[in-house]
Amino acid sequence: MTHPNDPKNPAGKPEASNFLRHIIEDDLAAGRVSSVVTRFPPEPNGYLHFGHAKSICLNFGLAQRYQGRCHLRLDDTNPTKEEQEFVDAIEASVRWLGFDWNTHHYFASDYFDRLYQFAEALIQAGHAYVDSQNAEDMRARRGTLTQAGQNSPFRDRSIDENLDLFRRMKAGEFPDGAHVLRAKINMASPNMNLRDPVLYRIRHAEHHRTGKSWCIYPLYDYAHPLSDAIEGITHSICTLEFEDHRPLYDWLVDKVAQAGFFKPEAVPHQYEFARLNLTYLVLSKRKLVDLIDSQVVDGWDDPRMPTLVAARRRGYTPEGFQRFVEQMGVSKSDGWIDYSVLEECMRDHLNEIAPRRVAVLDPLELVIENLPDDYDETCEAANHPQRPELGKRGMPFTKRLFIEREDFMAEPTKGFFRMTPGGRVRLKYAYVAECTGFETDANGQVVRVKAKIFEDSRSGTPGADTYKVKGNLHWVSAQQAYMTQVRLYDRLFAHPTPGARREGDAPELERDFKDDLNPHSLTTVQVAMEPSLQQARPEDRFQFERHGYFVADLKDSRPDVPVFNRTVTLKDSWAKQK
Ligand code: ATP
Ligand code: MG
Repeated sequence: MTHPNDPKNPAGKPEASNFLRHIIEDDLAAGRVSSVVTRFPPEPNGYLHFGHAKSICLNFGLAQRYQGRCHLRLDDTNPTKEEQEFVDAIEASVRWLGFDWNTHHYFASDYFDRLYQFAEALIQAGHAYVDSQNAEDMRARRGTLTQAGQNSPFRDRSIDENLDLFRRMKAGEFPDGAHVLRAKINMASPNMNLRDPVLYRIRHAEHHRTGKSWCIYPLYDYAHPLSDAIEGITHSICTLEFEDHRPLYDWLVDKVAQAGFFKPEAVPHQYEFARLNLTYLVLSKRKLVDLIDSQVVDGWDDPRMPTLVAARRRGYTPEGFQRFVEQMGVSKSDGWIDYSVLEECMRDHLNEIAPRRVAVLDPLELVIENLPDDYDETCEAANHPQRPELGKRGMPFTKRLFIEREDFMAEPTKGFFRMTPGGRVRLKYAYVAECTGFETDANGQVVRVKAKIFEDSRSGTPGADTYKVKGNLHWVSAQQAYMTQVRLYDRLFAHPTPGARREGDAPELERDFKDDLNPHSLTTVQVAMEPSLQQARPEDRFQFERHGYFVADLKDSRPDVPVFNRTVTLKDSWAKQK
């Protein structure tokens, strides 16, 4: 299926396969649904990560594609772990990725009253009961994958007794753990999720939105399908680990529909897709918190973290994520995607949008001996080689310049075409220069290179062509450079599957994912930049010629003192190491 008119796919490339599209198209064609309603249901107990980006792009993307809508629902059924800080960050990240829920912003806690009503209805229909076993007995009777469970001694309580107990649970008469409400399904089901799952538990805890109104809270497996049903979700898309929960999902929406709360033909259906696993990363919240607590990183938004707040500081783009999700398609079998695929999507997009600039990351002074001290000429450089409409900028060319230290060799090795004593190179956008000597310090380290330029060799003039040189060096004016700090970020882990066992590991060896950290994930350097970069505003993105894509940091930049982060190198420097 190709969509040549799709603005996100202007080239009309064949799309990656996405079985969800077929399901939706069939449902629309058969009239099973009149319009598509999806939802993204994060739990506000942490920041969103790259895996969530897949889910967001899918849910919002499908709704957009079929002119439906996607709800943002904060799944805040657990009173003790959730915080407003996370709610705010989640909303900001979804918006940043380019999606809009319009008025469809919900909280599962908005439904506490209705979920409670449904529970009473389930009790009245004989589909739920209050169990008063302690946690240990309940576990013992649950059975195993190979062994059926046993009914609770409280399973056959009368409807009236169940109702009375459940109401008193709600009224706060019992301490935590005294009773739970369970669905009455089948303790012998081969699917453990159907062995009378717990629907409600007592929790005397304050909730970030409902305060102290409730002391019983619904479990995820209960609240989620019924919240979907309340909102009229048509396609409830989730990750594969919920496949075994689908029979419970269907059972619940079906039983609550039978009680008259929903139209049976309009209940939602759940579809599972493979979650995103990326090499060189960890995505579990527990591990991300561990990285923060052990001070490996500076926080959720440390640009090395796989969170969306961090990606933003790192300079990754929403379009890059959208391309990535589009390109990887949607499948039903778990697999790993190489980190370089994500980086390549970012590079692709940045290559299109990022203006070019010059920064010398390891400055070495170059003195042009045949220019006066106060020489100041403006050389023009194109902002983007393929996009003339982005115009040009001036770069001051002065007597003292900086070049990259690696661009000079006092004793050149074979094939080195950059600056060497007696050799000639072009200073890009300016003149051909011939090296006339160099100075070293007491340790023999080169501290200064000297050269003369040829006045008739200026780039863009007819004389320029008469000089044939192999090297083309970037430079900035030492007298007018913006000297600042640049953070060269690299992958946080040096191993593709952090913490995983490897061939040849001794049986007793237990790896910690933190043993696989990349010690070079952050290098800070003092660099010399062309002066215009001093005006960069937070989140302005650039390609620094030869070095990669960089962004002015959102958090640490100050007016006229931008600090830059490397987003990604120009080429995949990890490929050759494999
Ligand atoms: P984690 O396990 O990393 O803590 P989570 O699944 O608990 O994440 P939720 O807030 O419950 O986080 O997730 C919200 C939505 O994002 C869910 O629909 C979930 O299926 C989806 N999601 C989470 N991780 C991934 C992933 N790696 N790939 C795709 N979707 C994901
Ligand atoms: Mg979860």
